Amino acid sequence: MKKALILTLSLLLINSCKKEETPTETGTEGSTKTAKPTAEKVVHISIGTGSQTGVYYPTGMKLSEMVNSKKSKFNLTAKTMAGSVDNVQKLLSNDIQFGIVQSDIHYQAYKGEGKWDGKPQSKLRSVFAIYPEVVTLVSRDDAGIKKLADLKGKKVNIGAPKSGQRENAKSLLKFIGIDYKKDLTAEGLSAGESPSSLQDGKIDAYFFTVGHPNSSLSETTAGKHKIRIVELTGLEDYIKKNPWFTKSTILKSQYPKLVNETDIESIAVKATLMTTEDVPEELVYLLTKTVFENFDSFKKSHPAYATLTKESMLEGITAPLHPGAEKYFKESGLIK
Ligand code: GLU
Repeated sequence: MKKALILTLSLLLINSCKKEETPTETGTEGSTKTAKPTAEKVVHISIGTGSQTGVYYPTGMKLSEMVNSKKSKFNLTAKTMAGSVDNVQKLLSNDIQFGIVQSDIHYQAYKGEGKWDGKPQSKLRSVFAIYPEVVTLVSRDDAGIKKLADLKGKKVNIGAPKSGQRENAKSLLKFIGIDYKKDLTAEGLSAGESPSSLQDGKIDAYFFTVGHPNSSLSETTAGKHKIRIVELTGLEDYIKKNPWFTKSTILKSQYPKLVNETDIESIAVKATLMTTEDVPEELVYLLTKTVFENFDSFKKSHPAYATLTKESMLEGITAPLHPGAEKYFKESGLIK
């Protein structure tokens, strides 16, 4: 009896929802006029980002704000996530329809390397590249870490599971012959927890692959302990083996409280907006066109975008372009 009632109620509910979606007939009897939709159904779309103090989150917020201002049927929301690996996985399971990802992780997933060894994720697509993300090793100055090899015996947050920095930390440590399971105490804290954990002495250093400047690092340097960004040099062979990395520098002027006296050398990848081939062309085209036609507003929205040009947003892409993005780039002459 109860079951029957629930079933009837569900059917009623389904029917009423369907009715809302059904276009109303505007034609008179016998006329051939086509149906006109009253109001289009809102399609909810999510963008996977990172922790709130990183750059992925404000990027996802800005992209959502820009697309939503177009008042199309699509409504975008930015979601906080663990980072690149999490975003790839949630994108492939359709929990999100866009995600921000490091170009190295995007490449590995698309090709079937690294975490996806032997399992290429060929559905992955690029929308556009955004800004450089620098592998940033942040330490408390009193821990005496001046180079990567000094991490031996230290307490290091290599990054939360499913974050991009965790993959970078593991790969770099392996490259210089440090076993992160044996040679140091590795923590798996989120990027949001890193600043206070470093200042409180819970850890001596942390990895964060991120655009600069960002509020996470400003928060870290604002504490009572002096902070040093450790230079990552001598990585020419590493770059040869992993060609999506480039040499890069973090400007000391962006964090005046650092103990570093000069700009800091490191290596970088590109933060990329990714999607899958299943996401409609109409939506990807709308997003791409909105961002590129309002490029100045986008560029001004975060200091980590200071060096962006429209052309640079097509450089360093590691998976094929989505047809919706390609359509806009061809139309606007950005690609031939
Ligand atoms: N690159 C980091 C990751 O993939 C996230 C950086 C950010 O949140 O800005 O985990």
